[in-house]
Amino acid sequence: MAQKQTNKAKKEAPKPVKKVAVQKAAPKKVSVDVPAVSEKELLLQSLRGMRDILPDEQPYWERVRRSLSNAAQEYGFQRIDVPTVEYLHLFVRSIKEGTDIIDKEIYSFETRGGDRVALRPEFSAGVARAYIQHGMSVLPKPIRLFSMGPVFRYDRPQEGRYRELWQGNFEIFGEDDPILDAQVLQLAYRVVQELGLKNIEFQVNSIGSTESRKRYEKALVRFLESQKQKLCQNCRERLSTNPMRTLDCKEDKCAQLTATAPQAIDFLDDESRAHFKSLLEYLDELEIPYSINTRLVRGLDYYTRTVFEIWSSDREGKKYALGGGGRYDGLIRELGGESTPAIGFGLGLDRIVLEMKRNQVRPYEAAKPRVFIAQLGDLAKKKSLRLFSDLEKHGILAAESFGRGSLKAQLRVANRLGSEVTVILGQKEALDGTAIVKDMVSGTQETVTREKLVDAVKKILKSNVALAHPKKS
Ligand code: AMP
Repeated sequence: MAQKQTNKAKKEAPKPVKKVAVQKAAPKKVSVDVPAVSEKELLLQSLRGMRDILPDEQPYWERVRRSLSNAAQEYGFQRIDVPTVEYLHLFVRSIKEGTDIIDKEIYSFETRGGDRVALRPEFSAGVARAYIQHGMSVLPKPIRLFSMGPVFRYDRPQEGRYRELWQGNFEIFGEDDPILDAQVLQLAYRVVQELGLKNIEFQVNSIGSTESRKRYEKALVRFLESQKQKLCQNCRERLSTNPMRTLDCKEDKCAQLTATAPQAIDFLDDESRAHFKSLLEYLDELEIPYSINTRLVRGLDYYTRTVFEIWSSDREGKKYALGGGGRYDGLIRELGGESTPAIGFGLGLDRIVLEMKRNQVRPYEAAKPRVFIAQLGDLAKKKSLRLFSDLEKHGILAAESFGRGSLKAQLRVANRLGSEVTVILGQKEALDGTAIVKDMVSGTQETVTREKLVDAVKKILKSNVALAHPKKS
């Protein structure tokens, strides 16, 4: 499969290769293949489907990141960071060929050392690998792990669909009780609610144990084979590779046909049925708005029993997938660990940010500096660095404009920032070891020694809080 992709890439962009000698730190010369640069590469553009998240955008992202980290902490998840690059085999073995992710979307390449590796297309496989590699099975269960970072999929880019996308990811290992399934849904619900997203719907389904899933797949294939000519070309191929994927097909003719296809829920073994029933009871108890979507199967091969997705919709009824996940009780064993039930889900940060904007949710607002440091002259400039750190050590945020020359220009910046206190350090003060502390609200000012500076600033800030909130004082 990776070979196929390499061939395609070669066809798209034939690049002459010239050998150049690169001088390394050690005086030894090594030879590196450096392809000639194409015109496209010279345009100084990010790759298609990959983008910069600029400072202006960051307050939205910061709000999401904080919300996810807080939720992780509240629900007892510990952070784990796994590498962006893993052996290709890990993903092929867990997600499996026949899925879009492995067949079409994975970024894979060979390293200089000859290892076949891939950029992670999702988190679960890497986290499961880490769980096994570090012997986490001996730890008290359940083990809850949270990750956040970019994942990579060679998808067709459009708004809300990128080749580098960000996900927040939650995994619980070591429990198969459906209350944990309900708890991860509760966590996801808490995050989207806390972020102010409206019209959220959880879709849930159960695809049963590995055995009942197999029985279901057989019945589905039997049904679809009998009417194969009504399926699109892709779905005809899926019949032999990943038949459950036909249920996701957006082509009208496929959707019409699969609407009458057998449903996984009718093939559940007794235990899976009871498991699903309990999950629904918990969701009712939690009053989480959900619907059962009997066509929901998720694309990856490792899911068993519970699968779910989180959707939002706009006024026109257009739907956006914000996240999804499910149980994967067989994956750890499949990867070579001891049999361990697990459940996890991922939330798409890019989509959540788009939804926040659509819902006009306020982005994160960082605390604003209440103090400004102005300085004049070389010595004062040097000393003001010290003052900045004196204030910062006492938790007082200060702004400055060290690069500006005139005091007037600096005070203009202080005014624009709405600073409550300006600390002014001129040549004289720098020599005396003092500073002028100016209360920008009352206009009064006093000269204090460096040792008294923090207290003098604090006093003014405190009296301003008292003025703004008389009851608090
Ligand atoms: P999945 O596991 O594929 O359902 O992905 C989980 C979530 O990641 C989705 O619900 C989306 O919010 C997000 N996501 C998946 N693929 C992309 C993509 N190509 N670009 C942006 N977000 C994505």
